[in-house]
Amino acid sequence: MTFTGSGDGQSGSMRAHFVLVPMLAQGHTIPITDMARLLAEHGAHVSFITTPVNASRLAGFAADVEASGLEVRLMELHFPSAEFGLPDGCENLDMIQSTDLLPNFMYAIAMLQEPLKAYLHEQQCSPPSCIISDLIHWWTGDIARELGIPRLTFSGFCGFSSLIRYITFHNNVFENVKDENELITIRRFPTPLELTKAKCPGNLSIPGMEQIRKKFLEEELRSDGQVINSFQELETLYIESFEQTTKKKVWAIGPMCLCHQDNNTMAARGNKTSMGEAQYLQWLDSMKPGSVVFVSFGSLACTTPQQLVELRLGLEASRKPFIWVIEAGAKLPEVKEWLADEFEERVKNRGMVIRGWAPQLMILRHQAVGGFVTHCGRNSTIEGICAGVPMITWPHFGEQFWNQKLVVDVLKIRVEVGVKGVTQWGSEKQEVMVTITRDEVEKAVNTLMDEGGGCRRDEVRAKDCAIKARKAFDEGGPSHDNIRLLIQETGNKTNACG
Ligand code: UDP
Repeated sequence: MTFTGSGDGQSGSMRAHFVLVPMLAQGHTIPITDMARLLAEHGAHVSFITTPVNASRLAGFAADVEASGLEVRLMELHFPSAEFGLPDGCENLDMIQSTDLLPNFMYAIAMLQEPLKAYLHEQQCSPPSCIISDLIHWWTGDIARELGIPRLTFSGFCGFSSLIRYITFHNNVFENVKDENELITIRRFPTPLELTKAKCPGNLSIPGMEQIRKKFLEEELRSDGQVINSFQELETLYIESFEQTTKKKVWAIGPMCLCHQDNNTMAARGNKTSMGEAQYLQWLDSMKPGSVVFVSFGSLACTTPQQLVELRLGLEASRKPFIWVIEAGAKLPEVKEWLADEFEERVKNRGMVIRGWAPQLMILRHQAVGGFVTHCGRNSTIEGICAGVPMITWPHFGEQFWNQKLVVDVLKIRVEVGVKGVTQWGSEKQEVMVTITRDEVEKAVNTLMDEGGGCRRDEVRAKDCAIKARKAFDEGGPSHDNIRLLIQETGNKTNACG
């Protein structure tokens, strides 16, 4: 067990104690680390539930909250990998070798239920007052009911995508749809919307996942509300409609990534970075403001080998400065061959290739960055919005296509690269057709980055979104107020030892 923060919860007589239970995947865990920091900064005590391997990845976060005197306790529970046929130490989604093992992984996580219950029963001086659980952890519902405390869910989605998820899943919109590419009109959505089954989450066709999905969606109906990483002004219509549809309180407390004020804490977010932050900063500082395009497909990206080659050639042809994160998610040995050294040699004055984990938030916020080629992950989308940069949207699978719709149709701060098909998670080694050619990449990058390239209005809108995000998050803004109210309304419980 690791303890961080300044106290053990015995100090206040009315101390809110939030129990945060993230999904063990970087895209789910990272926003929860931001949430932990925010709740603690607002005076709450936080138990952050994790496992040994994941805790070691959270070392930077743990050190930061400790240095800041925040009451965040990282609670490590044993992860039963072997019992579920997983290799020893396979405790994070990005360590699974095959998507067929996803149900094993989910059931192994569910085994945290008993040890978590035992830990929470022990907290007599600081009894838990609210559980905020990843939506996917159906098993936290029983714990909350046993303890008689509220359970809020967090999926990481914005209001727009949360509403689509809720309507489509709970109304079985795609149940009898045979043609995965048929456009289906989504009724009860506040603005016109057509979707295909293929471009929706929960379409992985992995045996055993359907039952798990049912479990957590049924449990969602019993939750006491939802926390979302968004802010009111960005998508008022959708957040309000989400609240009306679910008939449950929606707490929009984002963009949570704005809790980071300095480069150190931004660089400590997620995995260990492949270079020291000074090296990135030195390179970025040498570039003209707004001149660099940042290319990253998140932590689980499944870009096909052929597609990576086209992306490389397109970036090279565009002649624009770039930072390209190539191996954060794509664990492809062949990448070495395609990224032949001459490429990096040829672009060395204007291109940086990052093999491994990049300090994405820090890079995005640097003034040299003027555009973001993104897979439209739930976090990357909101991080791009906060950075005030227009985006080239390149979704791969699942709700990334919905986030693209928010960026393209609602916010209008984008160039679509024109993805037609789905590149499903875990399918990167399959022989599939290249979907985006080098010419399309070059054209999109030039449209986004060229002065007079047609994106100036997008850029103005992007900057406007970033200003609104900051206002919502800072003191006096609705997200700031919502955190305070969240603590007041769900968090306080009398301290038995106070
Ligand atoms: N991220 C990062 N460095 C990387 C890759 C990803 O810091 O090299 C962070 C990124 O800033 C975001 C998260 O990892 O917070 C990825 O989440 P997202 O929802 O965008 O995508 P996912 O990885 O879940 O597909």
